Amino acid sequence: MTVFPDLTPAIRDRAPGLRGRLIANQPLSDLTWFRVGGPAQVLFTPADTEDLAALLAALDPETPVTVVGLGSNLIVRDGGVPGVVVRLGGKAFGSVEIDGEHLRAGTAVPDMRLAKAAAEAGLDGLAFFRGIPGSVGGALRMNAGAHGGETTDVLVSAEGVDRAGNLRTFTHAEMGFTYRHSAAPDDVIFMSALFRGRPGDRAAIEAEMDRVTAAREAAQPIRERTGGSTFKNPPGAKAWQLVDAAGCRGLTVGGAQVSEMHCNFLINRDGATAADIEGLGEEVRRRVRETSGVALHWEIKRIGLATSEAGA
Ligand SMILES: Cc1cc2nc3c(=O)[nH]c(=O)nc-3n(C[C@H](O)[C@H](O)[C@H](O)COP(=O)(O)OP(=O)(O)OC[C@H]3O[C@@H](n4cnc5c(N)ncnc54)[C@H](O)[C@@H]3O)c2cc1C
Repeated sequence: MTVFPDLTPAIRDRAPGLRGRLIANQPLSDLTWFRVGGPAQVLFTPADTEDLAALLAALDPETPVTVVGLGSNLIVRDGGVPGVVVRLGGKAFGSVEIDGEHLRAGTAVPDMRLAKAAAEAGLDGLAFFRGIPGSVGGALRMNAGAHGGETTDVLVSAEGVDRAGNLRTFTHAEMGFTYRHSAAPDDVIFMSALFRGRPGDRAAIEAEMDRVTAAREAAQPIRERTGGSTFKNPPGAKAWQLVDAAGCRGLTVGGAQVSEMHCNFLINRDGATAADIEGLGEEVRRRVRETSGVALHWEIKRIGLATSEAGA
């Protein structure tokens, strides 16, 4: 198990007024759906926006910073994540406020709660969030979407803070949304987002959310240790069909397996390491390239170091 040098005294020297929680060598596996991976060199849970901006402004510019949400589209590698990992807590970043057709949400809000708040306010267009088990922050970064809806359809603007600690606002156009991607600078940590719904009938929206839930239960291994869709759908094709055609349904590497239920999902079936899961994904990519000539691209984000790189 990796043990990084403790950075917290140096960080406290540089930013003595920090109010949030700084923990050295904090395991990250419990913060991800796959339940694998090494520790964060430092895990920071900011007290509020000013606290986060203060840390980023004071931090040695050489220190890497990574943000994680609810870990539902994430592999943390076994050697852990060097530098500071930021996780926004629900206390400071977990509110949803409604004003007419607009919803302002903190980025720690689970997408499912955003969908519910919109439905309760009779606002249509956000029901698709009911099926996505991530946070609003992850939805902004990934342009999360399902059942014919995507984050780009309902987002008005987002607020974030960059690596230098500057507060920034991004209009919808500046978010540069494409399929499962935002072109907003990689260093930006989003803190809140403004969405717009359409006036609708609460009962009809709730019925739509129930349909989304039922479709998920039937088609996805939602009770497994997984990371959602592993690969992006290539233009004009479905990743799961290519994976299936390459004979990878049920394929295993160590404790990791391609889901039998939905073969664009990898699962931690039996004590897998991050290396098992990533290695399985790479093996699937290799077989798909061999059978169909298509290069699949990872949708799942992979962060941190392999055990060998961490020197553990
Ligand atoms: C069972 C299951 C079903 C899924 N179904 C779908 C689906 O239908 N559609 C879909 O789109 N996705 C789906 N996913 C994937 C996942 O839920 C989404 O990608 C989600 O948006 C990720 O959010 P998260 O908070 O878990 O982010 P994480 O997985 O923690 O991180 C994902 C990325 O977002 C970045 N990020 C997180 N928070 C912030 C922030 N505040 N500021 C900046 N960047 C941030 C991280 O750095 C990372 O690059 C599914 C996952 C699972 C496990």
